[in-house]
Amino acid sequence: MGLPLSFEFFPPKTPEGAERLRGVRQALYAHKPEFCSVTYGAGGSTQEGTFSTVREILAEGVSAASHFSCIGATKASVRQQLAELKAMGVRRLVALRGDLPSGYGLGGEFQYASDLVAFIRAETGHDFHVEVAAYPEVHPQAKSPDADLQAFVAKVRAGADSAITQYFFNSDAYFRFVDDAHRLGADIPVVPGIMPITSSAQLMRFSDACGAEIPRWIRLRLQAFGDDIASIKSFGLDVVTDLCDQLRNAGVPGLHFYTMNQSAATQEIVGRLELA
Ligand code: FAD
Repeated sequence: MGLPLSFEFFPPKTPEGAERLRGVRQALYAHKPEFCSVTYGAGGSTQEGTFSTVREILAEGVSAASHFSCIGATKASVRQQLAELKAMGVRRLVALRGDLPSGYGLGGEFQYASDLVAFIRAETGHDFHVEVAAYPEVHPQAKSPDADLQAFVAKVRAGADSAITQYFFNSDAYFRFVDDAHRLGADIPVVPGIMPITSSAQLMRFSDACGAEIPRWIRLRLQAFGDDIASIKSFGLDVVTDLCDQLRNAGVPGLHFYTMNQSAATQEIVGRLELA
């Protein structure tokens, strides 16, 4: 549809999940993604699953990005994993701080994602295209909106090539963030992260955890649907397609879909955009 698309997956936990994900990927490849990315559990908890899913995507002839979180990691372990990713043929990373599950000690030699970006650049030059996370509605742990913007600028100064946002349903927050970052000289492409709405309870849970705001009118409509999954899905498709259409018309550099390892909603949204 003329706009670069990317699709995000998480590493499946079972052989059945891996098989299902293969089918999901094949369905989504019809939309010719620029790349597909695979999340990485903080503390290296999913490293094996992340790397093996990335390997499969590359073997399917599609560009793959590995997410990479640095919290709790040492420089030696990051160095070794970067070498492994490079040898696998990975050329794109999503460099993150990550969130450690409670109970993990902090430790580690990296404090923020900007430290990881600087390390990747120092160690591997421009072998990797480095993506970072951006938070148009402000990261939940940020001291202030301005401190969070400065943290984003620090990641760009450390060498990030482009960014993917946390999902949002309020496009004004995205446009404001991009304008503010540009004003501070951080003018890398910032690709909106898109979360299809397929379940009310799951969306509420995720949004509370990651600080994404569900506008009141969307929340109330979802609540009113109760257990009526068909209506939730139908409403969700309309809302998210309209958001994507608005973003596309405003000239965003791409759309990154949080697929949740499901193809149906993403395919339907992309299909509607292609028709529009
Ligand atoms: P940072 O950019 O380091 O920011 C973290 C916090 O520290 C922010 O509040 C920021 O304002 C603050 N901060 C940064 N620098 C400074 C500084 N110098 N001084 C003071 N404060 C500072 N998590 C995973 O575990 N695995 C994944 O695969 C994953 N993929 C993601 C993909 C995308 C596109 C996004 C948007 C998020 C993803 N996350 C993932 C979640 C992410 O790890 C969390 O949001 C995490 O809490 C922050 O990571 P970050 O890279 O944005 O951190």
